[in-house]
Amino acid sequence: MHHFDYRDSELFCEDVPVRTIAEQFGTPVYIYSTATLERHFNVLSEAFSSQACLIAYSVKANSNLSVLATLAALGSGADVVSAGEMQRAIAAGIPPGKIVFSGVGKSEFEIRAALSAGIHQFNVESRPELLRLSRLADDMGKSAPVALRVNPHVEAGGHANISTGAAEHKFGIAWHEAVEVYKLAMTLPGIAVKGVDVHIGSQITKLGPMKTAFEKVVGLIRELRALDIPISRVDLGGGLGIPYKDGETPASPADYAAMVGDVLNDIDIELILEPGRMIAGNAGIFVSRVEYVKERDGRRFAILDSAMNDLMRPALYQAVHEVRPVKRDDALQSLTYDLVGPICESTDRFAKDYSVQELRENDLIAFMSAGAYGAVMSNQYNTRPLCAEVLVKGDKAELIRRAPTFEEMIANERVAEWLKS
Ligand SMILES: *Cc1c(COP(=O)(O)O)cnc(C)c1O
Repeated sequence: MHHFDYRDSELFCEDVPVRTIAEQFGTPVYIYSTATLERHFNVLSEAFSSQACLIAYSVKANSNLSVLATLAALGSGADVVSAGEMQRAIAAGIPPGKIVFSGVGKSEFEIRAALSAGIHQFNVESRPELLRLSRLADDMGKSAPVALRVNPHVEAGGHANISTGAAEHKFGIAWHEAVEVYKLAMTLPGIAVKGVDVHIGSQITKLGPMKTAFEKVVGLIRELRALDIPISRVDLGGGLGIPYKDGETPASPADYAAMVGDVLNDIDIELILEPGRMIAGNAGIFVSRVEYVKERDGRRFAILDSAMNDLMRPALYQAVHEVRPVKRDDALQSLTYDLVGPICESTDRFAKDYSVQELRENDLIAFMSAGAYGAVMSNQYNTRPLCAEVLVKGDKAELIRRAPTFEEMIANERVAEWLKS
């Protein structure tokens, strides 16, 4: 469900015509819908209302301050994977007491920053990380609330590059070593053992693999409690998939909540969830303008003013984002295009042989479901500026990130002294 719909033949975001935003702020541009963000958060929080539950939005999906502040106002926490993300979350009004810190490579600087802030939980991914955290917390006279991220050896995820729960992946502590590492954690200064954490992948559309992983985790919790290891929290990660095309029907938040309720059954525990894509994915679109249409060797290319530096998912995961014309014209036929950007890489292609209403120079098109893992992954390859982001609420649209000027783009670079004559 989202709030990007046609009124007559014009695509709207809530009550604002997409064309107006493109004209006011330029293209390419990311556009987010407040009502959609709110709806997704509330659907999930209502589905889990019968259970003590912290929804820690996965900041890496979309970390714009206004997106975070929108969710903070609803009571969201944050799942962060760097000190930078933690600072963003706090700056946007998410209290440190609702922040969990995940990731395999936390630096000393990051651990100290999180200890100083007083976050809710460290999701520890290895024995060396646990030892480092213990040493730093002890040094600072703090006690670090810890969950160990276990690797349940379950395959899941919408693409090989976003699957994280199998033995070959770098994530988490090996299943067969988990109990031993918990026993170690109980002996370490500066460590307060709180919970078990698992996250098996992203864009998971079927509940089966999650259920298998969560059942293993519940078994582990029972085993740890039997050893007098005080497990009061379980963090089930994120990963719930979203529809990227009309007709796709991934498991709904309600189905997911029912499955989780089933699996947790009678164990008394505080639940943490780390949804990212499910909250932000369908709450954003990415709007581009057609620069040229070129026909060559039997192929028809629509060359856009946006590129893989703006939206990497097609190049990185062979993802296909549904394309909608910003102005629908039923008199025009559908034609097949390769939708490409101006970057000098053959991977700079959004879609191949994609059928869409006939495109002409200066037409606007929208890539749907671009709210998660879109703008956050953008970069300045080919010295293309990071593009603008706009947030809509009802009939209001506001710029929430402006594109840098050329001077800003090169501001941190300098010419070495010996090159100056
Ligand atoms: C990426 C990630 C998430 C969010 O995943 P989604 O598929 O966007 O829900 C949650 N937890 C961890 C540890 C992650 O790495």
